[in-house]
Parts: sequence; structure tokens; C-alpha cells
Amino acid sequence: MLLNREQLENKEEKFLAPYAALSKFSQGREFEERESEFRTCFQKDRDRIIHSRAFRRLKGKTQVFVNVEGDHFRTRLTHSMEVAQVSRDVARALNLNEDLAESIALAHDLGHTPFGHAGQDALNDLMREYGLKFEHNEQSRRVVTYLENIYPNFRGLNLTCEVREGLMKHQTVYDNADKQIKIQPTLEAQIVDFADEIAYNCHDLDDGLRAKILDFEVLKKIPICQEALAKVREDYGDFVNEKIHQARFVSAIMNLMIDDLLQNSAQNLEKNKIKLLDDVCKSTVRLIRFSSNRQIEIIELEKYLYQNFYMNQQVLKLSRFGQKTIQKLFNYFLKHPEKLPADFQIEANDEQSKIIDIKDYIAGMTDEFAIKLSKDENQ
Ligand code: MG
Repeated sequence: MLLNREQLENKEEKFLAPYAALSKFSQGREFEERESEFRTCFQKDRDRIIHSRAFRRLKGKTQVFVNVEGDHFRTRLTHSMEVAQVSRDVARALNLNEDLAESIALAHDLGHTPFGHAGQDALNDLMREYGLKFEHNEQSRRVVTYLENIYPNFRGLNLTCEVREGLMKHQTVYDNADKQIKIQPTLEAQIVDFADEIAYNCHDLDDGLRAKILDFEVLKKIPICQEALAKVREDYGDFVNEKIHQARFVSAIMNLMIDDLLQNSAQNLEKNKIKLLDDVCKSTVRLIRFSSNRQIEIIELEKYLYQNFYMNQQVLKLSRFGQKTIQKLFNYFLKHPEKLPADFQIEANDEQSKIIDIKDYIAGMTDEFAIKLSKDENQ
């Protein structure tokens, strides 16, 4: 049996929750084009994102710049895949649109700089001197609406409005604490915010332990970790193998977070009498969120990670190296804008446009490419 797009759309309408974002009612694309015969518009978006050049470059961008030689440390690519996995699981359990959540998740970090958050801060500081700013969510949107250039009749990937909006609204406490939201994003976009938080907390914990930067004995005192350790003991008894124990521990924390998000969000939808997508948009509260108690515990874990991992001397040393690399490249291209690849000499010929070109080029680089180029250009 072969399902065509119309049948897939009807299936969504029949089986998904009435407040899910249905592909059939998508607000469409900026440039009109023929839709796929066998894929919904959100599935087509996901495929475009995965096949983009910016997506492939995520493999060379570190999440937390820990150690360039470790094989098992997360990169932006594996992070994005983990965010997509959590997003899909949550969307499926809440009977929402898995394809939309997956597309937003896979694209959410496309605009991230090399060298993790340190890279973003460095680029933002450099931009501020010219009255501009760098913000990775905004840059992700720029990648999909402008920088990817593979179609003859438009710039960008021409994604649906819902995916583009999902990137705009994407914000975690870390990303954008003080922005006021007037219209709530779709539930699928809200899921990605939390999937991002769940994924980075769990994999940073895992990477920090593997890098021997985090101390298990201290971690044991954090409430959510105690609960996870009790679960591991309940399921597997007392472990001797440290590696397996750590894997089960991180997995247990992730399960605690996801289960709480699911149960609390389902309750919120009921409590706030959400019936249609319109109710979601007009809601005065975020419907997808952790319970208050779990949120407090997660904040405690995040504080621990901040103080002991992101602020660790070894990590900070590498962060400073990454920031210096970005500063060197920025100053070099400021003096030699003619050395920018042709693809990045696209804005008008005034100073602000030149800065934007430089920002776009540097933000897209992998860690390794940036390091190599900064060495070559400074010889
Ligand atoms: Mg992220």
C-alpha cells in the first residue's frame, strides 16, 4: 500500500490531537512551490535540513569545547540528533506532530558558531562594537532563510512558516531569559526548547564525567542525581563497572526529566482547557513545561554544571583559545574583506553589511576550519 501526501495529511488530521500543528493547515512557504507527492510539508522540511551544508558542518562544531581529541564527546551534530530524538518521543506521547518537532529540533542549532557558547559570546562582543549583535537562534533562522543557497529561484531552504517560526521562538532560560512572548509558539516548538535543555544537561553531565572534570561523589548530593542513582540500583543492583554505571545513571536522569515533562504538560493542557491550536497560541502560560518541583531540581543541576563544568579551568582555557581564534579571524577579514569567499560578499558595500558578511562566514565555520584558517592567515 502506498500512501500519498493527501493520505498522510488526512491520517494526521484523524489521529493527532486537535491542538497539534497539522501539515494540511500549514501557513505555507515564502516562495510558492509544488509540494511533494509522498511527503507532508514538514517531512520535506526535515529532509531539506538534513541535506543542507550547514547541517553537515555541525559535526565539526563542539558543544562544550572540552578536548579536541576525544572520540565520544558530543558535537553540535550529535546534540541536534539527541534533541530531535527527545522531541520526537515527547511529541509522539502527547499525540502532537512528530515531523514538525523533529524539523525544528534538527535546525535549532544550525546557526551556532564554532567553539560552543564561548564562540557565540566572542562573536557577539565583536558585533556589539558596530551596534550589531550575534544570537545563534536568529542565525539559525538566517541559515535557513538566506545563507543556504542551492535553489535557482530563491535564497534559503524555503521552509514552512511553522518551522521558521519554531526557530525564532526557540529559547531556553540560557538562550534568552528576558524576551517577552506575546503569541505562544506551537506545542511542537515548545517541546524543542525543553528537549534541548534535557539533551544538553544529560550529555554535558556525561561528557564532564568522562573528561574527569566532574566528580561523582559531589554529584551524588544533588537531589535529581540521588533519585536517578536509586533507580539504577533498583533496576540493576550494585554495579562494579564504572562505565556501565555512568551510562545507566545519565539515562535514568534523562528518563526522570522526560517523564516529568510529559506528565506535567499533559496536565497543563487539560487544566488550561486547550482544545484547539488557537487556544495554544492565545494561552497566557507555556503549556509544555516541567513541574515546579522538577524544575527546581533541574536548576540545581544546571548550577552545578555551570560552576563545575563550563567554568572549569581546563574548559575555560580552551574557551579563551576559541574566542581568540574568532577575534583573529574577525580582525583579519575586517582588514581584508576581499579575502571572504564570493558567497559571503553578498551584502551591500557599506560597513555594517561587511560586518554581517564576516559574521556569517565565521559563524558557519567548524572548530577545526577556524583554527586552521586563523593560523594560515596570520603567517
Ligand atoms: Mg541546542
